[in-house]
Amino acid sequence: MEHPENSKEYIGLQVNAGVCEQLTVNPYLHSFRKKRTKLFTPDEYVSGILDGDVSMLGQAVTLVESTLPEHQEIAQAVIEKCLPYAGRSVRIGISGVPGAGKSTSIDVFGIHLLERYGGKLAVLAIDPSSEKTKGSILGDKTRMEKLSVHPKSFIRPSPTAGSLGGVARKTRETIILCEAAGYDRVIVETVGVGQSETACHSMVDFFLLIQLAGTGDELQGIKRGIMEIADGIAINKADGSNVDKCELAAGHFRNALRLFPKPESGVMPKVVCYSGFYDLNVDKVIDMIENYIDAVKDSGYFQYRRNEQSKYWMYESINEHLRNGFFFSQNIKDMLPDMENKVLGGEVTSFVAAKRLLDTYYNELTNRQPH
Ligand code: GDP
Repeated sequence: MEHPENSKEYIGLQVNAGVCEQLTVNPYLHSFRKKRTKLFTPDEYVSGILDGDVSMLGQAVTLVESTLPEHQEIAQAVIEKCLPYAGRSVRIGISGVPGAGKSTSIDVFGIHLLERYGGKLAVLAIDPSSEKTKGSILGDKTRMEKLSVHPKSFIRPSPTAGSLGGVARKTRETIILCEAAGYDRVIVETVGVGQSETACHSMVDFFLLIQLAGTGDELQGIKRGIMEIADGIAINKADGSNVDKCELAAGHFRNALRLFPKPESGVMPKVVCYSGFYDLNVDKVIDMIENYIDAVKDSGYFQYRRNEQSKYWMYESINEHLRNGFFFSQNIKDMLPDMENKVLGGEVTSFVAAKRLLDTYYNELTNRQPH
């Protein structure tokens, strides 16, 4: 029998002129949708990276930074395959308060390094407060005008805001990929606030502190315990009428450094004055870094520090994993507000609350084990 819809007289489904179904979704929505990253296999990423393909390197770094489990799975496989090719760079950390002139200096340091030694330079950052959209530290590539257009440089903004540990781990993993791609010098920039300097220090061979003179708080680094971890101090903006003030500040820093115990590296940190903006005495800064690297390579401290850093990162990864497991547990998420109130209300002590939460988590783990 013929279907009634096939009959010429059948008009039940006809749409009347001028009456149109309203769309239930915004027709422009597709243009807002995030572009999906085309995924390759770990081997494809690795061979692109080893060939020095900047686009493949950039895409692999995006996966490292992603929180999606499927991205992380590929990223970890890529990192593992890149590891044998990593480690052959000199890693330089650069820190300083906002406005100290880090971007200006990295731009000019980078050009000097490339002119002096050739090779390739990667510039990465650790800034746990950064959000890519806000273009904070390094987000805005134009802050490094010369380097950003240099064919031998790779500049990457800080991974987006997150826990310091998480952001720092991603930067460290990115160093591995950059080294496998043949970048033989890596600069890691960090903001001179909070704990990010320690994180940066834990992944570089030389940690440079950029300071300013004449701000009345020259020795602020001492207060924050940052000078102990600096392998060198560079006083920026030594130009024009500022030169004398910089030399005076340099004297203060040298005196202060003498009061600290001899550093583990055996190399006393130097203090130099320069101007990043006017490109004055930049060679002195580069010499300071290179002389230090030569000395610690000869003494064996270079490799010792790298080994210590690998150990540190193993423990950091364990800590991060345990912490995430605990705080992502639904049971714990449900219990936390109540426990917090009980502690605040004086019903239970902090220690008892912590123990109850941990016991709950351990029980959950035991029950999760296959029998
Ligand atoms: P950052 O926040 O540490 O990255 O600092 P920037 O590199 O953005 O520099 C902050 C400001 O200091 C900018 O206005 C720079 O032009 C200026 N500046 C940087 N280096 C120098 C320098 O060597 N001399 C002078 N006079 N100004 C500088």
